[in-house]
Amino acid sequence: MILGDLDPLLKLLSRMPGVGPRSARRLALELIQNKDSLMRPLAHALMETADAVRACETCGNLDTQSPCRVCQSPSRADENGQTVLCVVESVSDLWALERSGSFKGRYHVLGGTLSALDGRGPDQLRVGSLLERVRRGEAKEVILALSATVDGQTTSHYLAERLRELGADVSAVAQGVPVGGSLEYLDDGTLLAAMNARRSV
Ligand SMILES: [Zn+2]
Repeated sequence: MILGDLDPLLKLLSRMPGVGPRSARRLALELIQNKDSLMRPLAHALMETADAVRACETCGNLDTQSPCRVCQSPSRADENGQTVLCVVESVSDLWALERSGSFKGRYHVLGGTLSALDGRGPDQLRVGSLLERVRRGEAKEVILALSATVDGQTTSHYLAERLRELGADVSAVAQGVPVGGSLEYLDDGTLLAAMNARRSV
């Protein structure tokens, strides 16, 4: 087989996060050499998942059902259906928080941050539906868990203002020294945030 025939496959593979042209070639070769035990089952699994997965109409999480399991779980709200909302940028952030088991409320996935540079305003994010959930009384408390970047913090400030107008209690996750982290390896931004988020001991 001439390598050119593989171009479409290589192009697709190299669009995966963390996969450059070299790893794309390695993956393609692995797949081709294991057509029946790997390539066909993978293609099948991809098709099945593509058909089954949808974005939750309430929070934006990805699941095979909508509303997603997190939104449907009764243990994540009180008897009046009220909950605490945690706002995250992406589904991967939501999954990370779920893995950590550190949050037992419900989520709202923004789909990114506001960005003047990339021309991303509130209408390009799931801001309207977040405000609507709070307006409907689904949550009185909102935790903003956005990245400690300039855009992330701008978005946090913007959302905090809009949410407080609706009477919500708004807090943001602390940014700072990672558990087990040594100060000397932290970048200046992290150190500054850690200093600002200090508490009495
Ligand atoms: Zn959901």
